[in-house]
Amino acid sequence: MQKTRNLILILGDQLDPQGPSLEGADPTQDVVVMAEVASEIERYPNHKQRVVLFLAAMRHFKEDLIARGFRVIYQHLDANAPAPDLPAFLGAQIVRWQPEGVVLTTPGRHDLTVALTNEAEQAGIPLDMRPDTHFFCSKESFSVWAQGRKSLVMEYFYRDMRKQYGYLMQGSKPVGGTWNYDKENRGTFSKNGPQNLPPSTVYSPDAITQAVCQSVEQHFPNLYGSTEAFGWPVTPTDAHAALDDFIENRLPHFGTYQDAMWTDEPFLYHARLAAALNLKLINPRTVCDRAVAAYAAGAAPLNAVEGFIRQVLGWREFIRGVYWHHMPAYINHNALQANNPLPDLFWTGNTRMRCMQQVVQQLLQYGYAHHIQRLMVSGLFALLYRAEPAAVQTWFMAMYVDAVEWVTLPNTIGMSQYADGGVVGTKPYIATGKYIKRMSNYCKGCAYNPDLATGPEACPFTTLYWDFLMEHEATLGSNRRMGFQLKNLQRKSHAQREAIAERATVVHELAQTGAL
Ligand code: SF4
Repeated sequence: MQKTRNLILILGDQLDPQGPSLEGADPTQDVVVMAEVASEIERYPNHKQRVVLFLAAMRHFKEDLIARGFRVIYQHLDANAPAPDLPAFLGAQIVRWQPEGVVLTTPGRHDLTVALTNEAEQAGIPLDMRPDTHFFCSKESFSVWAQGRKSLVMEYFYRDMRKQYGYLMQGSKPVGGTWNYDKENRGTFSKNGPQNLPPSTVYSPDAITQAVCQSVEQHFPNLYGSTEAFGWPVTPTDAHAALDDFIENRLPHFGTYQDAMWTDEPFLYHARLAAALNLKLINPRTVCDRAVAAYAAGAAPLNAVEGFIRQVLGWREFIRGVYWHHMPAYINHNALQANNPLPDLFWTGNTRMRCMQQVVQQLLQYGYAHHIQRLMVSGLFALLYRAEPAAVQTWFMAMYVDAVEWVTLPNTIGMSQYADGGVVGTKPYIATGKYIKRMSNYCKGCAYNPDLATGPEACPFTTLYWDFLMEHEATLGSNRRMGFQLKNLQRKSHAQREAIAERATVVHELAQTGAL
């Protein structure tokens, strides 16, 4: 047998045809190895579409590599005696191929990075672990930026990234004279709702994806959701078509309505490119270039393009930096000592709360909800309910097709649940049901009233908002950004506080018994 030079391990979220691990690869000397392993699928009580997305994209990637002449060893779910996890798979492939070295793009997960490094070390094989150049900001650059800062503020990071990469810049100044157009990006729909929405794009499953759907239904029938409505991009071609659709049909309105929600309209003007970006089917530079070109061509307004660039170049890169800067300890944070189990309604959508019902039902159908539905509906309810952050993290990882740990962990533990005590967000993002009423039509026809904090019709968000403030009044008192909200709390009489606490107890009981 011909001697193997490098064993190239490619993971399910490293599907860039020009990825770092393939740089300098030689199909005549190297072997590419990829694996579908049960331990990764069962790591969370996953949504079926999240599993299909990864496996279908991996299988398409494998076919692409074979067409490029590579020898690819690919472990299918259905393999006889499969390796149970990725380190075991790597170990077995090292034994089989006796390579001179192992090449790997740095995984997006801390624990996997450690485990694969250990596996190669134990086998006595040199490991060439290459930086993931998909991102604008390397881990090292982020550490340099973070060094000596009392707190990590996304806005400053974002401005530095704009300056460094020149997106929407005129010399050293932001185009339009302002860095941030958020104020223009909080529009709501009139009572008639969104008009003339572009049709939802679906990437119909081909034979490869259909086979994955069948396999997932067969092997993992008890996972959440269904594969029926699967229509996510699973190839670079699909991902670029999704980008075209966004730039042409959605970006012009994306900014204004990016925080708005509407009953039975799960997608609105959102790009839905996060899954393709996180699996590396498309490059963030391409995505940003196209958005900025649309602005330059007069095809999209500045508030929309700036809002989008902020998400991709700012928030996405910042969150990844925070993840690597604070791992592995970050995963265990629980600054507010929230210890309640997550109620079943998060998994079933069975609730009289119309907003939560909408979000969970669309999750079960598509594995998707947009950023405000994540932060200010599901995440907000979990925070106010004082759900255990680790359980909330598990839920976000399981239910969203685009979830990967480096994104979801800081967004959940930090931004959404304030469990990191202020590393990501400068204060807990809390609001009453009135916020949801303003940004959506969910409250119409809901069993509850967002204006009420007490009584049987009180909106659970509103009740729990005040109860949360009462619980954390002392600890949050030193946070200047909480001043306004705490001042309003101080206007509540003793009797009002007691009534809120009583109703909050009822809300918890109703949630636990599935009657909320
Ligand atoms: Fe949600 Fe409260 Fe509005 Fe009902 S009233 S939809 S629970 S915010």
